[in-house]
Amino acid sequence: MAPLLDKIEEMLLMGPGPSCVPEAIYAAIRRPTIGHLDPHFIAIMDAIKTQLRELIGTANQLTIPISGTGSAGMETCFVNLIEPGNRVLVLSNGVFGVRMQDVAGRLGASVEALEFEWGTPVSVDQVARRLAERKYDIVAVVHAETSTGVRNPIEDIGKLLSGSGTIYLVDAVTSLAGIPIDMDACGIDALYSGTQKCISCPPGLSPVSMSEKALAKLKHRELKVPNWYLDLSMIVGYWAGEKRSYHHTAPINMLYALHAALDLILAEGVSKVFERHGRSHEQLVAGLDKMGLKMLVERPYRLPMLNAVLVPEGVQEAVVRERLRTEFHIEIGAGLGPLAGKIWRVGLMGHTARQTNVDRFLDSLKKVLN
Ligand SMILES: *Cc1c(COP(=O)(O)O)cnc(C)c1O
Repeated sequence: MAPLLDKIEEMLLMGPGPSCVPEAIYAAIRRPTIGHLDPHFIAIMDAIKTQLRELIGTANQLTIPISGTGSAGMETCFVNLIEPGNRVLVLSNGVFGVRMQDVAGRLGASVEALEFEWGTPVSVDQVARRLAERKYDIVAVVHAETSTGVRNPIEDIGKLLSGSGTIYLVDAVTSLAGIPIDMDACGIDALYSGTQKCISCPPGLSPVSMSEKALAKLKHRELKVPNWYLDLSMIVGYWAGEKRSYHHTAPINMLYALHAALDLILAEGVSKVFERHGRSHEQLVAGLDKMGLKMLVERPYRLPMLNAVLVPEGVQEAVVRERLRTEFHIEIGAGLGPLAGKIWRVGLMGHTARQTNVDRFLDSLKKVLN
């Protein structure tokens, strides 16, 4: 094997993603590559669509994995649904809300942000007030803000938008398969996720789902979607059309991995998977509390899969991360933007969210801090 690959050591991935990958998924990737139009591969594609609908809580026909990481899913949702001059409201309280504004702005939308302090959730009252003042073509929000560890109230925001002409767009990159999400019940029109957070696949695919309302908007566009690769009106020809016409070559082996990962999650049972995330989170917070460490986010808004831990006074946060990595083979994340140097981000995503991993992390952190 190429020598650099021989030198890769296994890490306990407890950062903001990627998360630990189960053996069954590596085994899936190793299956022989077949053609992207092979009938057996088409059967795998169909199975993935069914699995994703179940996990996302949707009956949407257009529910497919986009080639590319979570950001490609973000780009797919905006590029297909924005027409120049559209009014877009982004509810923003972290890095990924800021990224949404950047993506939407590049597509010629008139973008407004309703901003909330990082580490606090989106306020539904403030959203209601803004929506009473102005109408928007699209309202977008991140469900699980990975940069801060905050859970945003996507159900209540969905109620505000219900029955309106506004498209409701939700980032479920970190939330999907970690906390409950019911796309149809929330009235979400466009949703994207990623594979390397709670789905525990290597990075490379982004599940996307769109409602009939979103598809109607796509169908009635005046101008072509300004990005050939992510144009859903063409991609559906391959994923769902009668003829399965070639658009771009599917990342075959990555799709094997996603199929295997979804199979593991659905076999364990989604409610069991959510409970496992909740238990690991409680175990982590209790252990940190014993060490005198505090969390950034108030209890009701905390995400189980992304824990923002305040760095104690006088501790050099980067040194701690570096020692965890080199001495204990554990990766955690740093704070971003205004939270740089102030927090550690401890991920309990997917396969990582297990008692033994939390024990190992707490033991290691204790040794480093002493
Ligand atoms: C990780 C992440 C993304 C971006 O995904 P990539 O796979 O890094 O492109 C977008 N949104 C959220 C909330 C994320 O956590």
